[in-house]
Amino acid sequence: MLMRPTVATIHLDRLRKNVQWIRAQLNPHVKMMAVVKADAYGHGAHKVAEAALEAGAEFLGVALVEEGMALRRQGIQAPILVLGQVPMNQIAEAIADDLDMVVFDPLTFDQAVQAGQFLHKPVKIHLKVDTGMGRIGLWPDHFDRVWIERLRNPAIIFQGLMTHFANADAREERGTKEQVQRFLDVIEMCRENGLEPPFVHAANSAAALKMPGTQFNLVRIGIAMYGLEAYAPMPADLKPVLELTSQVVFIKTVDEGFAVGYGSTYITEKPMKIVTVPVGYADGYRRGLSNRAQVLIRGRRYPVIGRISMDQLTVGMDIDDPVAIGDPVVLIGEQGGESISADDLARLLDTIGYEIVSGLSPRIPRVYG
Ligand code: PLP
Repeated sequence: MLMRPTVATIHLDRLRKNVQWIRAQLNPHVKMMAVVKADAYGHGAHKVAEAALEAGAEFLGVALVEEGMALRRQGIQAPILVLGQVPMNQIAEAIADDLDMVVFDPLTFDQAVQAGQFLHKPVKIHLKVDTGMGRIGLWPDHFDRVWIERLRNPAIIFQGLMTHFANADAREERGTKEQVQRFLDVIEMCRENGLEPPFVHAANSAAALKMPGTQFNLVRIGIAMYGLEAYAPMPADLKPVLELTSQVVFIKTVDEGFAVGYGSTYITEKPMKIVTVPVGYADGYRRGLSNRAQVLIRGRRYPVIGRISMDQLTVGMDIDDPVAIGDPVVLIGEQGGESISADDLARLLDTIGYEIVSGLSPRIPRVYG
């Protein structure tokens, strides 16, 4: 089947370079988990996983058991950690597919032990401590003798001890030092009790790059690998991996005073060309960008005028500007020295680049360059 003209091109060469650059910033003994949850932040989990492993990542991170299982079906053999809570009914499947599990509550722990014994399979557990994030994780105060006994249970492999930072991306220090201290206390308690898991991990992209002291011996890297802002300003060596492009499919000329699109939110102030581009909010190009975003055509910036519809949007051009049906339109990416990043679109929507790229819908074909 031939493709529609709106596509996301995923530059795996840039992804590999980003991984290599990030690796070069890590302390020598530190391993890297490539976080490929949410279809690799919209970039395509399988291809990204392969490229990241090739470029030197040793571990993969997903949010859901389904995501880990899909990678196993696609032949990925590297260790995969399910970062979210594993629901009771998926524990056996996770173990059967050799997925490492984040555990922080006794019920999941007991269920995992039983499932592992039933399946005669190793159960690899990463104990998650909540040092200040406020979502899944065991409070450090609740890490007691009972948990120590659980982790000594020969029916499981205590594979990792982990936490997650709430403010690693903030410009000024906002509680990360306290989180690190609470985490160090738990590490110390483990050590005193002869528990030394092979992996100790806390850092996401921002922490790993800005605070090397948080790298422990494994870092969990998502956004920086995709070349988007982990914190501002982003290191110039990281290049965005995803480009979103389309084509001009229609051009019309209108007079002054013409009302464009649903709700007539844009009225032309002079005669103009209006160009239709077949991408809309059902593709994840958000309606909130109406009358705010710009696109690139023939190397110049043009405004998105009128409301973005489900499948189409309209761009305003001066009456004399050259344009033809079939001209490439860049929504995210570079053209003729101009560039628009997912982070630029995020700023217009008061959100983060993560939401822009992971929100691009499956209706947009991903092509790999
Ligand atoms: N670790 C956990 C537990 C996460 O949930 C995430 C993503 O949100 C990451 C690591 C990766 O974070 P980042 O994309 O900021 O590198």
